Amino acid sequence: MKPKERGKNLIIVNSLASCFLPLASVRQLFCLLLLASCALFSPALVHAQAVSYPTARNYAEPSIIPPEHPVDMLRMRLEVSFVPEQGLVKGRVTHIFAPLRERVYSIFFDGPGIRIQKAALNGRSLKYRISPPGITVYPDPPLQWNSTDSISFTYEATPRRGIYFIGWNDYTGRRHKQIWTQGQGIDNRHWIPCYDQQNDKLITETIVRFDSSYQVLSNGSLLSRTDNGDGTLTWHYGLAHPHSTYLVMLGIGRYGIKTVRTKANVPVHLYYYPESPDRVEPTYQYAAECIDFVAEQTGIPYPWSSYANIPVEDFLYGAMENTTATVYGDFLLVDRRGFFDRNYIDVNVHELTHQWFGDLVTGRAANMAWLHESFATFYPKLFRRQISGQAHYEWMRRKEQEAALAASEQNRLPLVHSQAGGTRVYQKGSAILDMMMYVYGEAPFRRVINHYLKHHAYGLVETNDLFQAFQDTLGLSPLWFFDEWIYRGGEPHYEVSYKDVTLHPGATRQTEISVRQIHMVDDLVGYFTMPVVFEVHYADGTVDRTKEMISGQADTVVIRNPGKRTIAFVLFDPGSMVLKKVTFPKSFEELKSQALQAPLMIDRYDAVAAMDKIGPASKRELLAKIFDQEQFFYIREEIVRQLANDTDPASIGILRKALRDPAVEVRSSALTQVLLIPTELRPDFELLLRDSSYSVEAAALARLSVRFPQQVRRYLEITKSDEGIGNQVRVLWHELNAGLGERASLKKLAEMCGPSFEFRTRINAFDAVKHLNYLDTAVALNLLDGMLSPNSRLRGPATGTVQYFLQQTAYRRILEQAYASVSWLPWQREILVQVIADR
Ligand SMILES: [Zn+2]
Repeated sequence: MKPKERGKNLIIVNSLASCFLPLASVRQLFCLLLLASCALFSPALVHAQAVSYPTARNYAEPSIIPPEHPVDMLRMRLEVSFVPEQGLVKGRVTHIFAPLRERVYSIFFDGPGIRIQKAALNGRSLKYRISPPGITVYPDPPLQWNSTDSISFTYEATPRRGIYFIGWNDYTGRRHKQIWTQGQGIDNRHWIPCYDQQNDKLITETIVRFDSSYQVLSNGSLLSRTDNGDGTLTWHYGLAHPHSTYLVMLGIGRYGIKTVRTKANVPVHLYYYPESPDRVEPTYQYAAECIDFVAEQTGIPYPWSSYANIPVEDFLYGAMENTTATVYGDFLLVDRRGFFDRNYIDVNVHELTHQWFGDLVTGRAANMAWLHESFATFYPKLFRRQISGQAHYEWMRRKEQEAALAASEQNRLPLVHSQAGGTRVYQKGSAILDMMMYVYGEAPFRRVINHYLKHHAYGLVETNDLFQAFQDTLGLSPLWFFDEWIYRGGEPHYEVSYKDVTLHPGATRQTEISVRQIHMVDDLVGYFTMPVVFEVHYADGTVDRTKEMISGQADTVVIRNPGKRTIAFVLFDPGSMVLKKVTFPKSFEELKSQALQAPLMIDRYDAVAAMDKIGPASKRELLAKIFDQEQFFYIREEIVRQLANDTDPASIGILRKALRDPAVEVRSSALTQVLLIPTELRPDFELLLRDSSYSVEAAALARLSVRFPQQVRRYLEITKSDEGIGNQVRVLWHELNAGLGERASLKKLAEMCGPSFEFRTRINAFDAVKHLNYLDTAVALNLLDGMLSPNSRLRGPATGTVQYFLQQTAYRRILEQAYASVSWLPWQREILVQVIADR
């Protein structure tokens, strides 16, 4: 396709004002948004290509529709008690509902494996039939419109999903004794017979009778807590507004609770383990502020009466946004040192955002997950911009863009496809929301979001509802944006180059920037239409900037240079606002200027990263200078990555500084990137054995022990009292000590493989026994136990470790003997036999 001629209608801007050259089809849209800041518009540009792609739904799957249901669930009252040592749930649930059909002859309730003892309709006994997925009831006479009915089930269940009993059979006293639930996706049905789909919302209340020395948490406000006089309390929680059943939760354990309040006086309950009150402060930073933040961003006050965060042991995921009560893995409940390695802040804002996106407005079906997860990934990024600054925000956006591009290496499924995958639903969707804000403006974007939430509060949504919110608030139909970013897949790949052209010798010059879209184009992915900023930076420090609508296969953007200034470097999309691949070759001189002078961190970073292929001799001096002046640590980390194995004294000097860098990421990079620790830096590396970060300490212990084996006993002495998250330091310590022939450490590692430790410790211990190639009966039994865990993050490594040892004849015998020594339950045997007995 021919580059466009712009002639005398070129826009030449010397200030930072923005201008668009819109396509006819989108011209009105951009005029509306940008007229105020835009002095000049060129005539509408007509592209030669006239391919008309169908929009919107054509790429969605017609088979994904919200499930049908004959009644509208209104309320659910759940009464439960437990025999935790047996994993037994004793319950009674009452559903109040209204028929949605003229006649309702039967209703199905999800409830696989639930043992129904009694079923009643409006207080009278009710005919029902049990099937593998649940319970079907048969009202006689059939139910009718305009009535409200209630069905109650008295039942027992011993579920292996949905509700988890932790530590009740641990007699070492090491484990926390807890009961917690995880409803999403469709697991609450294993302990509550209910219509367990997200497309019907209901008001729930939970009544739990339990040992009075434990705390009980559920959704909503604590309405009452009654002493039963027998060592138990009855806790009654209730929500005032409807939500979906996957958000029903329970958390039971021994906890301390600190309560803080938001600006709007919403109580925020921070649960912690009583033995470690020191973890409250590092873990729960900004716990109330982030609620105020999302409320301000969306213009919608926090939608519920209270909020709680509760850490639990062996959690299956990072965290879960149950309505008013987020459950999170206690590996995020960190002390001051653990905070350097992982923290709850971003997770907290993610789950909290779901209180609006997911809990207040809920996708009608599972393929609308992006309406939950993309937003819950997007707002933490905005919150980071507020607390950590613009550079951090740019970095997070870039990581999302990279993740989305990597996903496209596998397939190019659209964001709304049911198989889109987590990377798209979380990161790509968040990057798209960034672009939505970039294209339509931050204030208009906020208006759209506010309307979308307000209009559908406590209700159900689909992607089109967000589209309609643009119509209702801005009078816009952003068809092209939704089409290319949401309903279709892929991302643009731009090839960019420029020419510094002298127009009239001795008179004037202009910079001609050519852009070509070189990605594969087909029915799924077209040429992208996006506004892109172009900047020409000159050697004298001045800048020309223009914003152009780039849409066809090839475009040329011209920026006049009447002052005949020397170009230092050119930026295509400064700040990396657009999700894309770019091929834009630059000389070392250009990269150098960009690395030193580009105003935005991500552009300076890109220049440094692009020097990767350049030999150290040419860039050493420059990178040393940048290392000293860059505030943002990932640029310093990149410099360490490039020079860590350069033996020149200047590079050694950078490495030495990196080992004392204030940022964990830089110290960590120095440790991991250097292939051979230089002898003269041994004392500097040894400093890291006392690092504030447990991860850095563990990595230093590992690397130094390999490099200087004669020093191992001294290293063990220095690190002997540290544990680390998931006992990472402790396990490594025993591994090294066992390597010195200390049998006691082998015994300790065998124990740490077992169920009296939380799952992260066990995984670390599995790795240690593998490194040592050590297996005894105790380890074997602990591995088999790990293979049966409901937590796939433990089950996977346990199975992998067993498979590793099975390859060795002597160890295979130990594993087979261990397997034969236990009388397993049928479901346990079914799992184990797949790995053990088939051999
Ligand atoms: Zn989420």
